[in-house]
Amino acid sequence: MLLKLYVGVVAALAAAAATAVAMSTHVPHPAHPGVLVMLGAMLGLTEFLQVRQYHYRGHGASHNLIEGVLAPLVFVAGGPEAMLIAAVALGVADATRGAAPLKTLFNVSQWTLAAAAAAGVLDVLSPARNGGAVDILALAAAMLTMSLVNHVALDIVLALAMREQGERPSRSVALNGVVSRLIANGASLITGLTLVGAYLWSPWLIAVGFVFVIGLDAAGRAHANVRADSMRLEALQSATHSLATSLDLHEGLPSFLQEVRRGFEAHDVELVLLAESGATVYAVSDIAVLGEALCVDRHPLAELIASRIVEPARFVAGEDSDIGGLLAATRHSSVIAAPLRTGGVTLGVLFLYDRMGIEGFERGELQIVDALAREVVGFLERATLLQAIDDERRKLADIIGNTSDGIFSIAADGTITSWNAGLAAMTGYAAEEIVGTRHFGMLRPRDSVGRDVLMERWTDLLDTPGAVPTDLQIMSSSGETVWLSCSYSRIPAGASSGDVLVVVARNVTQARELERLKDDFVAVVSHELRTPLVPIKGWAQTLLNRGDRLNDDQRRTAVQSILSQAQKLESLVLNILEASRIEAGRVDNEGVADVVSITARLVEDTLSSRPDRQIRLRPPAVPCQVKGSAIWVERSVSNLIANAIKYSPDEEPVDVVIAADGDDVTVSVTDRGPGIATEAQERIFDRFERLEETRKQTGTGLGLYITRRLARTMGGDVTVSSVPGAGSTFLLRLPMAPVSASSVVVPEQRPTDKAVGQNGDNVVRLH
Ligand code: ADP
Repeated sequence: MLLKLYVGVVAALAAAAATAVAMSTHVPHPAHPGVLVMLGAMLGLTEFLQVRQYHYRGHGASHNLIEGVLAPLVFVAGGPEAMLIAAVALGVADATRGAAPLKTLFNVSQWTLAAAAAAGVLDVLSPARNGGAVDILALAAAMLTMSLVNHVALDIVLALAMREQGERPSRSVALNGVVSRLIANGASLITGLTLVGAYLWSPWLIAVGFVFVIGLDAAGRAHANVRADSMRLEALQSATHSLATSLDLHEGLPSFLQEVRRGFEAHDVELVLLAESGATVYAVSDIAVLGEALCVDRHPLAELIASRIVEPARFVAGEDSDIGGLLAATRHSSVIAAPLRTGGVTLGVLFLYDRMGIEGFERGELQIVDALAREVVGFLERATLLQAIDDERRKLADIIGNTSDGIFSIAADGTITSWNAGLAAMTGYAAEEIVGTRHFGMLRPRDSVGRDVLMERWTDLLDTPGAVPTDLQIMSSSGETVWLSCSYSRIPAGASSGDVLVVVARNVTQARELERLKDDFVAVVSHELRTPLVPIKGWAQTLLNRGDRLNDDQRRTAVQSILSQAQKLESLVLNILEASRIEAGRVDNEGVADVVSITARLVEDTLSSRPDRQIRLRPPAVPCQVKGSAIWVERSVSNLIANAIKYSPDEEPVDVVIAADGDDVTVSVTDRGPGIATEAQERIFDRFERLEETRKQTGTGLGLYITRRLARTMGGDVTVSSVPGAGSTFLLRLPMAPVSASSVVVPEQRPTDKAVGQNGDNVVRLH
């Protein structure tokens, strides 16, 4: 609207100026009509050829020699005729070119106005026009005035046109404009002065102007083409360079788009990658570079273009197509869209919105965009492939890094080429210490019979059966023996490396130890089970053969021995059963147990089989019940009393004290035996653990292990305090159960051959 108003104002001004000039100026020497026709034709040709320094799709300004031809026309024909000829010539030329009516009107008005101004200046400065130096100066001044009018009118119209389309001129266009205006003005000045000079020499010589116009047109086009070609080349080169130097999608594409935008002088550049789940958009605009890709659900324009075209094409906003409609919705006026295609599939679209820039570029731009689109496709394929390789590599590294198995590889010359975290954990040697060295030997690898294994020479040994053993014994960095079960794979030589031996090693130290323990256990148990049987059998035989000849004491000794051995056997079997139940996870810890009655009965039972021993039981002042299975409590206390009896001299008493301690009930069993060294005090609670110094006593190493497992399952624990040489105290601590009258368990009375005495200090002495 504003633009139309402005053109109207210029037209009105031109009409007013023309009238004023017609009324006030005169021509001293009217020219030959043929010369005027020639100048008119020259002016029309100049406008028609549009010798442009920069221009793109209606934007920018045309610079031509119009001033250079119009000035002689004004000089030769005078104001009114010159304006008439100019108006007709320019009107015809614009109409022939197919320029828009508004543009034609503006052109004609603008030049009429400029011509009127020039005529006025000329008339004032050189009214006589007698061919002297004054004429030349007056002509130069008239031309400058013309240029001034022209530039002002043109700049205003340009600014209005751009404002109307919501665009900003690019810097390069602006710069180019200034430079080209200076050149064009210079050329026009020379042309004008030369033509007037030629005319003054001989009027028909003015025809030389055609040479100027045509020559400048050719030179201008050649120059524009050369510039466009170098710009094209530069754009192509810098854009492809940014793809070639990057393998990362997120880094490569934004810098590529930046280069494309720069090269094409586009306002916005966008790369849309289409996928079933949505679209990923990389964008660079004159405002910002989108560093991160933007994920959108849909990109209607890209989808439409991908379904319509297979080669780059230009579209204009609002043009009669659905693409033109969608483009208008993006607030862009034009776009070059290039589908990214590979194997008949469109991966996405490259968009160059609102391209500006120099003339000549547009002739080859589609081909360049096509080349760039292909580059992007190649880049995407490369990046995807690389991503896939990288993902696989990462996955493999994760697997190797996180597996508990040890994996290492060793080259043909014995150099260790890889060493995973699992192996580092097993051996105590980190990858940094060992990779790149030939020091596998520092692990002192041996086979199961203790022979050294020269792993570095695997290429010689691999074919000899057993030379690289499956079970490998090594020494860890802390000096511990580690057993590895190994499998070997020979990887044939690749392009850049020789044969490699890959070894997968599993730490079987514990399994082997368990195996050994099991063997020991079977040996111990079979021995332990047999040991009590010998006296039982012996005494039973004696009673059978000579029972009638034995006196009462002898018989009692025999029966007591059988009883005591049978109790040992029972205890042993119960321990083994309990151990296997614990191992199998079958635990049943229900109910409430009365610690006092259980302990008293155990003491009685022990004394009945070992009447030679003395056990001092100190019961608590209050009833003591614990939460848990009575059988477990019995097993635990029984193990502690049995050990105290077993590991302390016959003449030494054993003290058993039951007490309430806060929320717990404690049972302490104190002996005066050999005691337990501090460093062994935790170890004795391990499975099958037996101390060397007590080996002459029979045992399985299961009692304390079971006691602790049971105590902990019940929410308590068992600990030991001991002074080697003075004796040991085992303390069983179990959580107390709230006492209710109905739940008090009365100890079952058993007939014993020793009376249970009670004295004042509440100590029950059984002996
Ligand atoms: P076992 O008595 O059948 O060998 P235990 O698990 O009950 O198995 O005991 C483990 C080891 O702890 C015993 O072999 C012994 O070396 C040591 N030990 C247990 N109780 C005592 C004690 N009262 N005095 C000294 N050593 C003991």
